[in-house]
Amino acid sequence: MEFRQSNKLSEVCYEIRGPVIQHADALEEAGHSVLRLNTGNPALFGFEAPEEITQDMIRMLPRAHGYTDSRGVLSARRAVAQRYQNLGLEVDVDDVFLGNGVSELVSMAVQALVEDGDEVLIPAPDFPLWTAVTTLAGGRAVHYLCDEQSDWAPDLADMASKITDRTKAVVIINPNNPTGAVYPKEIVEGILGLARRHGLMVFADEIYDQILYDDAVHHSAAALAPDLVVLTFCGLSKTYRVAGFRSGWLVITGPKQHAKSYLEGLTMLASMRLCPNAPAQYAIQAALGGRQSIHELTAPGGRLYEQRNVAWEKLNEIPGVSCVRPKGALYAFPRLDPKVHKIHDDEKFVLDLLLREKIQVVQGTGFNWPTPDHFRILTLPYADDLEAAIGRIGRFLSGYRQ
Ligand code: PLP
Repeated sequence: MEFRQSNKLSEVCYEIRGPVIQHADALEEAGHSVLRLNTGNPALFGFEAPEEITQDMIRMLPRAHGYTDSRGVLSARRAVAQRYQNLGLEVDVDDVFLGNGVSELVSMAVQALVEDGDEVLIPAPDFPLWTAVTTLAGGRAVHYLCDEQSDWAPDLADMASKITDRTKAVVIINPNNPTGAVYPKEIVEGILGLARRHGLMVFADEIYDQILYDDAVHHSAAALAPDLVVLTFCGLSKTYRVAGFRSGWLVITGPKQHAKSYLEGLTMLASMRLCPNAPAQYAIQAALGGRQSIHELTAPGGRLYEQRNVAWEKLNEIPGVSCVRPKGALYAFPRLDPKVHKIHDDEKFVLDLLLREKIQVVQGTGFNWPTPDHFRILTLPYADDLEAAIGRIGRFLSGYRQ
């Protein structure tokens, strides 16, 4: 008797934790040390969670033994609602759903909306969970291009040309993973204008909304479009460096009377998972209410700021490699000039790099980028480690041919 995976999975692709990982695991088991630059997990690189958050969670542990309200505990939902009220948004606790990370909420939000054959506009490159869950829900991920020449801003003309009568929603990832782009206000407004004209729901993945460098300003989609149904996603994994807690939220804003049935569906999905992990919910109020801020890490002289600089500078020093300066988030997405580096299969490139240099990055096509000429690297390692790793990638590339 053979048990085969369901056909529903046949088109689903999620490369960040994809097959190359097994090779990395095998290398480690054989005694090699592998520099894992594939997942944006701050804790792996010596970033500590603010003490206040972990202490609060520990303090609340004796009271976190039971299931909670399936949308999450009131105190945390109130803290989230206040965070968005401070941006001028009309939000109350009933508009907030907590989840086991943004990931779970992305899956619920898409499942509750998408019928077989419905289309969702998703950026290319993307954080590939959006494409994977859309496909799993029976929908079609339609990728709109982001333009490397314009600091990776979404190409609005391309987006407009891909809207059909099956398009249900548009995903905005801002600040962006994997490119590090932070979108100018007119770009966010342009996307919202298309959503308004075509009656689309807006999914705004803003998990990096506080991780900004230089003069970058984050423009919240919900704040710019109070007349549209916008679901904003954010959480504790990145800004508060507690990715392992699995704690995130989604906030619904706009004319909810047009989304009554959708919200009933979302509420049902929330109750089917019973509730999010209770102890981690208690970290939310402490995180959002406290003094702690990631600003000291992202401001000039801060660890993330310096690492972003080193990654960007050193990548651009490699012949045939160019990289747009990331303005936010925890990644860089360099380009391998096809005239210099003839790479036909970027998964093979990533595997060869791993086997030779014991460095694990993720190929650009893993982010639904259409051509095999990019990869993503984290800006999380200490500056010296990043410099050394990028030096090794440069040496590897200088002799690499496919
Ligand atoms: N959205 C984006 C753009 C991400 O980069 C990530 C994680 O890397 C997530 C969502 C998922 O985060 P969480 O840990 O809250 O599930």
